[in-house]
Amino acid sequence: MHGTVLRVERLTPSMVRVVLGDPGLEGFSPGDWTDGYVNAQFLPAGADYDVPFDDEHVRTLPREQRPAARRYTVRRWDQARRELVLDVVVHGDEGVAGRWAQTAAPGDRLQLRGPSGGYAPDPAADWHLLVGDESALPAIAVAAERVPAGAVVRVVLEVDGPDAELPLACPGQLEVTWVHRRGDGAGQLLAAVASLVRPPGRVHAFVHGEAVATREVRALLLGEWAVPREDLSVSPYWRRTFTDERWREVKAQWLAEVERDV
Ligand SMILES: Cc1cc2nc3c(=O)[nH]c(=O)nc-3n(C[C@H](O)[C@H](O)[C@H](O)COP(=O)(O)OP(=O)(O)OC[C@H]3O[C@@H](n4cnc5c(N)ncnc54)[C@H](O)[C@@H]3O)c2cc1C
Repeated sequence: MHGTVLRVERLTPSMVRVVLGDPGLEGFSPGDWTDGYVNAQFLPAGADYDVPFDDEHVRTLPREQRPAARRYTVRRWDQARRELVLDVVVHGDEGVAGRWAQTAAPGDRLQLRGPSGGYAPDPAADWHLLVGDESALPAIAVAAERVPAGAVVRVVLEVDGPDAELPLACPGQLEVTWVHRRGDGAGQLLAAVASLVRPPGRVHAFVHGEAVATREVRALLLGEWAVPREDLSVSPYWRRTFTDERWREVKAQWLAEVERDV
C-alpha cells in the first residue's frame, strides 16, 4: 500500500501535516484504535527503485539500499475522500522522516505498512490521562476526540514552546497542561504529571513519547498512584540522541529494564 501526497501544511514550527490520498490507498482501513499507526518506508538517496516497490524484494537488498522505516500515527482517515492525515515532527536537519516531511510536495509517494495499534480510551473509566510530547500529540488528539461526551480528560503535553501548541477537540471536560521544554526537557513531564490535581475514581492512562520521559511517568503512575497495569498504555516512541534504527536495536532490552522499575 502507498499514498500520494495531496497537500502539505505547516501546523507549527515543528509539525508538518502530510495528507496522503489515492492512488495507492484503496482498501486502507484505520482500525478502531486511537493510537493506530502506519509504518512508513523512506527511500535512501539514489535508490534504483521507486514507490510502489515489492516489500519482499527490498528486504533482500544490502542494508544501505533498503528503505528506512518510521512509524506515524493515523491522525485522521477520511473514508469518503480516502485521505490519510499524518502529523510529522520536524526536528532541524535531523531525521530521515523529519527531513522528508519538510520538503514533501504534492505528487510524492510514500509506501506504508500496517496499520497497527493498541489503545483506545475505555468508555467505562472515570477519567482519562493523556501524556506525551509532540510525537504523541497526534495520538492524544485522536483520543481526546473519541472519549464519551462529558468524560473527564486531563492532558499533559510537552512541546518546544507556545507556538508548538495545537488546539485539541474533545466532547468531554478537557483540561490541558502545556509544558514548555527547557533544554532537553529532562524531568519536566514527570513534574507536570506529579503536580496534577487528580480527579476521583479509576483512571485510564496513555503515556507515549520520548523513552526516558515515558519511563519516569510510568514509574509514578504504577508506583505512587497505584494505577493497575492494565489501565496504563506506555510506549517509548523515540529516544533522544538515538536514530530510530539505533533505538529499535536496544528497545527490547530497554523495555525489560523498565519492567523492573516497578
Ligand atoms: C507507534 C508510534 C507512533 C508514532 N507516531 C508519530 C507521529 O504521529 N508523529 C511523529 O512525529 N512521530 C511519531 N512517532 C515517533 C517517530 O517515529 C520517531 O520520532 C522517529 O524517530 C522520527 O524519525 P526521523 O527519521 O525524523 O528521526 P530519526 O532518524 O529516527 O532520528 C534522528 C535524530 O532526531 C531525534 N528525534 C527523533 N524524533 C524526534 C522528535 N520527535 N523530537 C526531537 N528529536 C527527535 C533522534 O533522537 C535522533 O537524534 C511515532 C512512533 C511510534 C513508535
